[in-house]
Amino acid sequence: MKCPIFVYMLKAKILLFVIAFIPSLAQAQNPFVFLNKSIPPGTKSNFEIPVISEKDSTIIPVTIFHGSKSGPVLGITAGVHGYEYPPILAAQQLNQEIDPKQLSGTILLVQVANVPAFLNRSPYLNPLDGKNLNRSFPGSKDGTITDRLAYLITNEVISKSDFFVDMHAGDAPEDLRPYNAWYQSTALPEVSEKGRAMALSMGFDYSIIFNIPEERLEKPSVYCSQEAFHRRIPSVDIECGRLGVPGKVETDRIVEGMFLLLDHLGMMDYPDNKVETAPVIVAKRFSIKSNSTGIFYTDKKAGDRVEAGELVGYITDFFGNRLEEVKAPQSGMILYMIGTPPINKNDTIMNVGILP
Ligand SMILES: [Zn+2]
Repeated sequence: MKCPIFVYMLKAKILLFVIAFIPSLAQAQNPFVFLNKSIPPGTKSNFEIPVISEKDSTIIPVTIFHGSKSGPVLGITAGVHGYEYPPILAAQQLNQEIDPKQLSGTILLVQVANVPAFLNRSPYLNPLDGKNLNRSFPGSKDGTITDRLAYLITNEVISKSDFFVDMHAGDAPEDLRPYNAWYQSTALPEVSEKGRAMALSMGFDYSIIFNIPEERLEKPSVYCSQEAFHRRIPSVDIECGRLGVPGKVETDRIVEGMFLLLDHLGMMDYPDNKVETAPVIVAKRFSIKSNSTGIFYTDKKAGDRVEAGELVGYITDFFGNRLEEVKAPQSGMILYMIGTPPINKNDTIMNVGILP
């Protein structure tokens, strides 16, 4: 059957209309629902998630930035360790600087994951139950307060993310050289590759590979950022800052890294998005453990090179008697190390990256 010419013209008009309309449909952004609250596009919203166990209670402060345009969901956690300040201060800075009107997609930003540890100035551990939040994932909804913190972060933030970043620094006794890291497993090549691209976009000069064997993926994740990877979410860890110091240089480095990442993910344009040098990629590391308890002496600091067989420190008892000489078994660069005198048997004295 032949169509009259005006039918063709009408069809063409409809087609033009549809073509013109599709991009705006694709850009249309629905509200984001978080904890039963609807967040309109182009706005941000603050939440205090209550966390209550039989003995204790606390809150998780979370900011949701819901972009005016559609895009991925990026989850970010700071303060999983409450004495690691540059990430916490970086989150505060991101809070000021991210404009949801300029954003494509959604950012779920946990300002301080472990408020009890932060307010009590407690390195590593939540003082309410003595647990390390970054050894407690995926958590449980009826455990102690730290188990419940992990459970809520897993279910309200990590599980809703398309990409995930957990931000850390050297804790109170930890001297640390800044780096980031991505999770990689032969079982998850696409997720691993996306994580790699995230890490390399962030402008850190050292990036580490966290290699996860396939069988490990079936066990509890333990670590916050690893929980994301177990859920097939590309996941990056930042380590930037040292010795519990709220350093401005480290804080700014994290903020810049996050903006570079937002640019990489197509969520925001970052004008200074020039990563000029490719980072050194560290695929292998080793730890030097302590065999003694006492006082640790060293001339080394994070970022220093060590040579195989080199004396890198020693440990005495409380009367000055030398208990142990600490030697490097292989050559490499110190990523982090105990930077203060107290030392316990089985402590990790140093973590050393083997340079390519
Ligand atoms: Zn940490």
